[in-house]
Amino acid sequence: MAAPTTIFRGTFFHTPAYGQLDALRDTLVVVQDGKIARIAPGSEEAAVMREFGLQQVRQLQARMAMEGQYFVPGFIDTHVHAPQYKFTGTGTDVPLMDWLEKYTFPSECSFRDLEAAQHRYSLLVKRFLANGTTTAMYYGSLHLAPNTVLVDTIEALGQRAVVGKVNMDRHSPEDYMESTADGLRDAEEFLKYTLAKKSSRIMPCITPRFIPTCTPELMKVAHALSLGLKVGLGTDVAGGISPSMLTAQRMAVVNSRCLRAHKLAVAGGTRVTPEMETDVITFKEALWLATMGGAQALDLADRIGSFEVGKEFDALLVDTAMGGTSGPFDVFADEDDLNHFEKFINLGDDRNLVEVYVQGVCVKRGSAFLLDPTSAVPTPADEMRLMRAPTPAEPEAAPLDLAHESSDGSMAAARDGEGANAETADEADTAAREAQAETEPESTPRTKRSRR
Ligand SMILES: [Zn+2]
Repeated sequence: MAAPTTIFRGTFFHTPAYGQLDALRDTLVVVQDGKIARIAPGSEEAAVMREFGLQQVRQLQARMAMEGQYFVPGFIDTHVHAPQYKFTGTGTDVPLMDWLEKYTFPSECSFRDLEAAQHRYSLLVKRFLANGTTTAMYYGSLHLAPNTVLVDTIEALGQRAVVGKVNMDRHSPEDYMESTADGLRDAEEFLKYTLAKKSSRIMPCITPRFIPTCTPELMKVAHALSLGLKVGLGTDVAGGISPSMLTAQRMAVVNSRCLRAHKLAVAGGTRVTPEMETDVITFKEALWLATMGGAQALDLADRIGSFEVGKEFDALLVDTAMGGTSGPFDVFADEDDLNHFEKFINLGDDRNLVEVYVQGVCVKRGSAFLLDPTSAVPTPADEMRLMRAPTPAEPEAAPLDLAHESSDGSMAAARDGEGANAETADEADTAAREAQAETEPESTPRTKRSRR
């Protein structure tokens, strides 16, 4: 999916070293064959355009990032359990082992229904791209086929990913476990399937469950870095409640401060020692962890994580000027671009990400996923309707034979009750149902939607 050679002109924020936030102002970045071919001052625009063949005007698009818009490297999430996305934000009231048995294993197992898997993984990859995650390390599920669906989905939507089939041959439910021999065979099949795609964006890996691989506890981040370990950040969906790497960055900062407060209390002191100071992470350091740190952790630091000649162009166009009711924060005339950027890191969300690039290809612009083979790019007239549309319905799930099915059933009943109340609903729900009707056959029973 080679994109035409493009020159971007504007401000580029990145963290080439831990704790170092650089603003490349009025800078030209030439992207050719998905890679950064040249970085030069804006004043050299004419010369750079000549260098890359000005006669090919159609292939060479100059772009001035508008006031209030900046580029930042795409975020790298080093720890996502792909099949758990479906129940992200729920199940926060039980301890780990109960959580695994009640939510995780049944949900992961249900991905054997490949139509459901396709539907859910499409929503997952779109949600992560929308939140600026251009690269994700995905743990799949136990069964081979759903993992190939995940790989297909990532390939189609243009994300970069490292993907592993989960292996588990003990301490798991009898019907969600594999023999060691089956596990090894399927892991090999999965590697072969993914490598056969010959995609430079998608890398298979081996992911045994219950061995901590990517994300050390946030509390130990600063310490791990001081030991020279490679450290990135991960959302850990769905153990983590948010798919946003902006949230992960903020949690790293806050947790590091909690740790310092705890150390201070334990020491019975009132003064922060230099040793305690090293435990605190700033927003600049958190951004490094979410970009360069993640690239290093996934062994991709020579390809992504910062804006350097030779690296691939995975980037987010951030618009910080959308305030009032259209954006998550406001900017003021007496602030500079550094203030705006810090506000984005601390207050921003997916609304601020107006364009998402992977390997130089714009995969998302506004609300449109440009490579999505299943949907046409929406016209502006569609925008309002799409914004109010509910999650599209997935095909009826195949019945599960897990012992935990009854607890799922009672949850479904509770949600049906809510759906019934919503029948007397307000204008928004009516609009949502109208939008739903356009994407679903008329005959779809209402209970199906409310049971989702
Ligand atoms: Zn995890």
